Amino acid sequence: MKFPRVLIIGGGFGGLYAARQFRDTLTEVTLVDRSNHHTFQPLLYQVATATLAPSDIAAPLRWLLRKQKNTEVLMAEVERIDPERRVAVLDSGRELPYDYLILAAGARHSYFGHAEWEAIAPGLKSIEDALEIRRRFLSAFEEAEKSTDESERNAYLTFVIIGGGATGVELAGMLPTIARHTLRGEFRNIDTATARVILLEGGPRILPTFAEDLAAHAERDLRELGVDVRTRTMVTSVEPNAVCIGDERIVARTVLWAAGNAASPLGRLLGPTVPLDRAGRVVVQPDLSVPAHPEIFVVGDLAVMTTDGKVVPGVAQGAIQSGRASARNILRVIHGETPKPFRYHNKGELATIGRYKAIADFGHGLHVAGHPAWWFWLFLHILYLAGFRNRLSVLIEWGYAFFRYGLGARLITRRS
Ligand SMILES: Cc1cc2nc3c(=O)[nH]c(=O)nc-3n(C[C@H](O)[C@H](O)[C@H](O)COP(=O)(O)OP(=O)(O)OC[C@H]3O[C@@H](n4cnc5c(N)ncnc54)[C@H](O)[C@@H]3O)c2cc1C
Repeated sequence: MKFPRVLIIGGGFGGLYAARQFRDTLTEVTLVDRSNHHTFQPLLYQVATATLAPSDIAAPLRWLLRKQKNTEVLMAEVERIDPERRVAVLDSGRELPYDYLILAAGARHSYFGHAEWEAIAPGLKSIEDALEIRRRFLSAFEEAEKSTDESERNAYLTFVIIGGGATGVELAGMLPTIARHTLRGEFRNIDTATARVILLEGGPRILPTFAEDLAAHAERDLRELGVDVRTRTMVTSVEPNAVCIGDERIVARTVLWAAGNAASPLGRLLGPTVPLDRAGRVVVQPDLSVPAHPEIFVVGDLAVMTTDGKVVPGVAQGAIQSGRASARNILRVIHGETPKPFRYHNKGELATIGRYKAIADFGHGLHVAGHPAWWFWLFLHILYLAGFRNRLSVLIEWGYAFFRYGLGARLITRRS
């Protein structure tokens, strides 16, 4: 007997949580991702700053879905989608036919028309990105230790982060902590505590998606850590050894990009009837399907989803909830029922600032900052990580790495 074929593109939060809904259902599910693992993106900055190892925050998709006998996992790049013929085309040329498609391909960085900046200032979306940032970050201290020229040494010990959203703030908060604590006493020619961290934000304040009082709290915490926070600061060029803000030139060997997102190009391939926003995200219908193609659903960071008149934020909960909702709607259609509109439940927003400090917005004006927010953050992340790893091993490994300042993750690996 032939069961309806569901194709899921992307094994991030949206795709993985959609796939899990099809367990023990009469469907044939294929999940395709260009990488073989699911990444817990909210902890990528911990890998980038050598606090956690990649395997602490990622797990093979094949393993995560091993108990789902109706689900196959393919590691491949999807290059094209033909909505009329209902097929997706892989990089090998193989065509994957589907009856229902869930597109959960997420987003990459946007350099606002300056693609040439990417090689100089890498962004953080994947394990590969995190390892590249980790390599540059740790190598900067090694180069500074070797250098006999003071200005060169200073350039190696200056770290610029462009973009004051959650990713930029979390990176900026962690770098001084590593420089002052983890690396302390290991170098002979430099004082790692003198490393400068500069956070540049074009808008009037950091963390624009958080409430003003929480953003102000986070800014104070960053300044206490020694971070030079500069708002209303538009970067005009990024050069191999410097960042320019108009006439000002900040000499720095390590520049990191946390400033913008562009949706996966796959959204554009759904055809002329499918509306996109300026970032290339697909504007979906209330049930998460796209106009003229009720069999195609778009979820997570690639979708513009609206519930209760508000656009759902591009966060993990938005992807998880929309992934699940799209799968449930497909199952409804298969059973001859009407799909339901997606409703997003805001479970709050969190950001950490270094060790032991965080801000939390639980909605309805409930704001928490400082140590209690950090402990809540830790609890929540262990809980979620445990969803795809052994709870005890996560607790032991992560707790050890975190409180011992991640000795094991401080390896400099070369790009192949
Ligand atoms: C550094 C960082 C920190 C974050 N911190 C937080 C946080 O603290 N809290 C929070 O709630 N959210 C946070 N987020 C946001 C959250 O992680 C995202 O909203 C969420 O991951 C989006 O899920 P998604 O499934 O839409 O996309 P993704 O998780 O990006 O997954 C997309 C998947 O699609 C695959 N893919 C893409 N194109 C193709 C293709 N052509 N062929 C095959 N596979 C493809 C990719 O390999 C990837 O696995 C953070 C994001 C980042 C990058």
